[in-house]
Amino acid sequence: MGTVSGTPLDGRDPMGAREVHDHDVLVIGAGGAGLRAAIEASAEGVSVGLVCKSLLGKAHTVMAEGGIAAALAHMDPQDGWETHFKDTMKGGSFLNHWRMAQIHAQEAPDRVRELEQWGALFDRTTDGRILQRAFGGHTWKRLAHVGDRTGLEMIRTLQDRGVHMGLDVYMECTVIKLFLSGGAIAGALAYRRDSGRFVLFRTKAVVLATGGVGKAYKITSNSWEYTGDGQALAYDAGAELIDMEFVQFHPTGMVWPPGVMGLLVTEGVRGEGGVLRNNAGERFMWKYLPEARRHEYAETEEEARRWVEAALAGKPTDARRPPELSTRDNVSRAIYTEVKEGRGTPHGGAYLDISHLPAERVMRKLPSMYHQFLELADVDITKQPMEVGPTTHYMMGGVRVDPDTGAATVPGLFAAGEAAAGMHGANRLGGNSLSDLVVFGRRAGAGAAEYSKKRAALGPISEAEMEAEIRAMLAPFERQEGENPYDVLRALQDCMDRYVGIFRTREDLERALVELRSLRTRAASVRVEGSRTYHPGWHLAHDLHNLLLVSEAIARSALLRTESRGAHSRIDHPGMDPALGRVNMCAVKTEDGMRVSPTPLAAMPADLAAMFEPQKEKVG
Ligand SMILES: Cc1cc2nc3c(=O)[nH]c(=O)nc-3n(C[C@H](O)[C@H](O)[C@H](O)COP(=O)(O)OP(=O)(O)OC[C@H]3O[C@@H](n4cnc5c(N)ncnc54)[C@H](O)[C@@H]3O)c2cc1C
Repeated sequence: MGTVSGTPLDGRDPMGAREVHDHDVLVIGAGGAGLRAAIEASAEGVSVGLVCKSLLGKAHTVMAEGGIAAALAHMDPQDGWETHFKDTMKGGSFLNHWRMAQIHAQEAPDRVRELEQWGALFDRTTDGRILQRAFGGHTWKRLAHVGDRTGLEMIRTLQDRGVHMGLDVYMECTVIKLFLSGGAIAGALAYRRDSGRFVLFRTKAVVLATGGVGKAYKITSNSWEYTGDGQALAYDAGAELIDMEFVQFHPTGMVWPPGVMGLLVTEGVRGEGGVLRNNAGERFMWKYLPEARRHEYAETEEEARRWVEAALAGKPTDARRPPELSTRDNVSRAIYTEVKEGRGTPHGGAYLDISHLPAERVMRKLPSMYHQFLELADVDITKQPMEVGPTTHYMMGGVRVDPDTGAATVPGLFAAGEAAAGMHGANRLGGNSLSDLVVFGRRAGAGAAEYSKKRAALGPISEAEMEAEIRAMLAPFERQEGENPYDVLRALQDCMDRYVGIFRTREDLERALVELRSLRTRAASVRVEGSRTYHPGWHLAHDLHNLLLVSEAIARSALLRTESRGAHSRIDHPGMDPALGRVNMCAVKTEDGMRVSPTPLAAMPADLAAMFEPQKEKVG
């Protein structure tokens, strides 16, 4: 069996792998996590390649609206890392890796200040403090933001910094396979989206920062890039995936018109004082507050209004927050239930109203929302309520990593951002992703650079393995007959929306697994025609493998978690099971297919555990 080790492949490979690039560290993904990882690895003096499916600057992070959570204590001086840590653990129903939640809470303020040093400019108070807004599940006003375009500012800043560090960037290039040598990472195979030609990267370490999996569902806030590539690449390379049952459904996506169904309506609308009502005008969120948390929320409309007025004026208040700022899973279930019980809006959602605020303030603080509704739905949100409903938004599960270094369970493989797991447990608090990206992107970049320095040379890559992968990738062109990949995608999304959505039962999950098995057979025989130049149908033929794999991991993990916790709601198991509060579900590849089993959580040190005792009893 031949190997590709030291010599370039140019001209030797009949199947089109004509480009070969060598790097100490290959970062896959140029969102917040990937860019931050690449900057850090580069600062360590190693050679870094950065690969992304879209154009640089267009990664999903650019869509982030509401803000980045960090206990800067600029608005609420009582805030500190301990409270942020506690909020994150409570939001995650204590399934988070305690060490990740601790590092995140402690380091997020420095990462925000660093972004400012690198040129980001967050909204400020008149006396120059960083303005921080309230978000669900955060005790204090904690989200630094740039209007409702925070992700854009972050990406712009990180991209500028990265480009000036001298990164090698490969745009519109999709990685389809990781290669191992002696059990450790040795390279990655990719194709150019524009030409369809193959690219081989030889590398000592890979950082996966490929984002989430939302395209497995029909109604989603996620972009076309979210096909679970990183999770699938890691799984196929032998890494562990954990917490895959925890898919976050954001409560407020657009429900109308059909072409934009699922598009996000930022939680910033509720943070700025937006109110949810049903078709009878009832402000229904009070009905759905969990008893253990009711004391944290305003009791009356008057108290909620006083809280909003104080928040807008940046003044302290003894009023408690409005019920709309309950956690995302709770608000999603509330809207879903209102609609199901016949109290929905004409297009099957709830009303979200911010028109009681001055129009000038709405347009200044929520400019994207104002334009989004005016241009896409002909609704002026300064005068009319929005119609909103739950949308698949964020994947808490992903690659299991070491909290300090981002190392996955395969030597040389690292992961960060939405592709990684552990930080958010059973549910993520809004704003905690952008901070996660920069905190753990930096650590994964450093971890990968350090690892690569310890490896003397690039490992050999099996030529036969590479050729087999290229052949499999080109197979849809060779078939004389076969289904259109888009038909399989629609069937998959329908299956996931219907059987693995907000509310789950054993019967539905088992039905989903049967359907997924038959979809896998259909996906293996899809056919495409035409040239390899910018051929999204061909790209999808491969994406289906990843989407089916993550869907199976979600359904299998959800089946095993016979309880309701965080974002995972089992109608047939409505309560929490304390025994399941001590384990993560973990999916691994075996010779007999996917195996999912419970693995114990890391024990929290006594000093941190002591912060929670009374609270933990309440949440089970
Ligand atoms: C509409 C919206 C608003 C949000 N608002 C907020 C917010 O206000 N605050 C907050 O904290 N979180 C927010 N989130 C969540 C947050 O934006 C994401 O979780 C986060 O941006 C993910 O960043 P990432 O770096 O992990 O991945 P991404 O930014 O998605 O980057 C993934 C990168 O991987 C590349 N990639 C993927 N697969 C491959 C492959 N096979 N080969 C090569 N490259 C690949 C992509 O091209 C891309 O460059 C929001 C999410 C959405 C959808």
